[in-house]
Amino acid sequence: MYNKAVKQYLEYLKITGIQDIFIKPPKQINKTELLKDLEQNYNNCKKCILHKERNKFCYGNGNADARLLIIGEGPGAEEDRLGKVFVGRSGQLLTKMLSAIKLSREDVYIANIVKCRPPENRNPLPDEKSACLPYLEEQISIIQPEFILIIGKVAAVTLLEIDQTLKAFREKTYNFRGIKTYVSYHPSALLRNPSWKKLAWIDLQKLQKDYFQQ
Ligand code: SF4
Repeated sequence: MYNKAVKQYLEYLKITGIQDIFIKPPKQINKTELLKDLEQNYNNCKKCILHKERNKFCYGNGNADARLLIIGEGPGAEEDRLGKVFVGRSGQLLTKMLSAIKLSREDVYIANIVKCRPPENRNPLPDEKSACLPYLEEQISIIQPEFILIIGKVAAVTLLEIDQTLKAFREKTYNFRGIKTYVSYHPSALLRNPSWKKLAWIDLQKLQKDYFQQ
């Protein structure tokens, strides 16, 4: 209806001798600025009990225009201290894993299911996850990545809403909100069980193949 009215108006302008019109292009959204503003808006969130023991809110970090979004479970001790995700030992391993498939931390955006550290690194509880998930959903809709890599079973069960083993998750890819999604090991699990690194490498190679269309 609106398009028809616009079309008729443009035809009218043409008939009346107006050949050129100038339309101001829509303002480009600056995703980095938008995420920064949202982080500031939310950093005092008290929607769940996890705010009580947090030192720093860990919204997420990386490239807001990333083609690959990595989603983990929640911040650890080092993340809680610094307010950044994946900066501890797990983060260092994740950086190495990315580098093995020719990606750097600057190429990707990384976020977690919950933005505040669960005490003693326990799994986040259902009400904590549901309180926090809207922040992640919003990050996904702003970044609009081409690929998502979910790391760890807790994040996979939460996002894909399937209760199965990590082994079963890794067997296929998923369509999450129209985005091709992979599941692999959380780096902290690989630190505990180094023998799983070769399986994680198989997962990463699948992702690399699609990412670089090899
Ligand atoms: S975990 Fe999420 S919902 Fe809970 S207090 Fe932190 S930011 Fe808010």
